[in-house]
Amino acid sequence: MKYQFKALLTNHGWMENATITVDENGLIKSIATDEDKESNEGVNGLALPGFQNAHSHAFQYAMAGLAEVHPHHKSADDFWSWRNTMYEIALSISPDTLFEVALLLYRQMLRHGYTSVAEFHYLHHDPTGEPYSNLAEMGERLAAAAGQAGIKITLIPMFYQRGGFGKPAEKNQRRFISRDLDTYMKLLDASRSVIKQYAGATLGMGVHSLRAVDGDLIRECFQLRQNGIPFHIHIAEQLKEVSECEAFYGRRPVEWFLESCQPDHTTHLVHATHLTESEVWGIAASGANVVLCPSTEANLGDGLFRFHDFKMAGGKWSIGTDSHIGLNPFEELRMLDYGQRLISHRRNTFTLEDKADSGFNAIEMSISAGRLAMGRTDHQFFDIGMPFDAVVIDADSPLLAGSSPEQWCSTLIYTGDVSDVLGTIVNGQWKYHRESHDAFPKTVQTFLNLRKR
Ligand SMILES: [Zn+2]
Repeated sequence: MKYQFKALLTNHGWMENATITVDENGLIKSIATDEDKESNEGVNGLALPGFQNAHSHAFQYAMAGLAEVHPHHKSADDFWSWRNTMYEIALSISPDTLFEVALLLYRQMLRHGYTSVAEFHYLHHDPTGEPYSNLAEMGERLAAAAGQAGIKITLIPMFYQRGGFGKPAEKNQRRFISRDLDTYMKLLDASRSVIKQYAGATLGMGVHSLRAVDGDLIRECFQLRQNGIPFHIHIAEQLKEVSECEAFYGRRPVEWFLESCQPDHTTHLVHATHLTESEVWGIAASGANVVLCPSTEANLGDGLFRFHDFKMAGGKWSIGTDSHIGLNPFEELRMLDYGQRLISHRRNTFTLEDKADSGFNAIEMSISAGRLAMGRTDHQFFDIGMPFDAVVIDADSPLLAGSSPEQWCSTLIYTGDVSDVLGTIVNGQWKYHRESHDAFPKTVQTFLNLRKR
């Protein structure tokens, strides 16, 4: 297969009239500039590396937009009241409905330009809390949905043991619970076995949060990582969990984690929202990555990440769509930027000393740390021998057609939406193309029933 794009984004900028040849396994055989359009599939598009969605809870897509009606007489709506609605959905999802919700969601992700998703998965057991006979039943449904949609998945079965710091699990958390580390490791092993059946699926591991697992077991679990497997954890999303952590451990969450676990580049701290100066520098010095989910963090009223300080410390970060209240990678990146602009009164969030292009810098970091979140260590956007995963933008989109290549990345990040996406390629094949696929993936009755309960 041979594609010729109007331009291809490389780590050094745009390569115009770029031809990519791909072998039968979807790996890149050659990258060149070539005017011979006869023998190629000519694409009037700008090809960017596919986006990495580094944090997803697929089942929560079923409730996106449904937690926004706030009766006046009720107490203030916040993360914790939202969580009650989320638990209701979690308790109502069967393996079959999880598959349907995830299939729809993953198709939507492809349509928006994501080619990989890290699924932070804790909905493990049946509605009574009993394990399924296949311990990894629910995880397998996620891998199957990703396989059918055509997106790559890193399935991350999470260790979830407790209801809060030093507290037993609550009744409505029963589907999440592994009572000890051995039980969790069995679940992880079962997940490792099932994903072997799905091309494009890999495994991660992790702990739901500091409040959800005993400290000693978090340390032990972290030590059991092998072969560069990515380790994910929700770290400091809400002020309440920061103060509870301080009361329980005498340490703030990131402070405790840095001291107790010595994280490295395989570690992904999701929602590192509430940090002190020394925690900012501690994460960056450790090599650990932060996963930011700007639309969900804003929707839940979490707070603003100390982006400027983290950038100055040389920290690495990726993006995720978490509850899927938003699915547009361009919007996640510009929301991250706009939060910083609003509190700093400055406009240069993503710029670096020697790199002035905000849009390019945002793409480069979110792709590079996003791949680490999937367990990949390659940093070249496109390279020989790498799978060809790309989001292709319509070169005739008015704002892009009317700007020079130097402005394309930033025009996309600050104005782009799904209407600019011509298609998405995974392993060298179109998994979504707006002219040959349904523009809107079909909703299914099970999904509608879940939302209309
Ligand atoms: Zn999350």
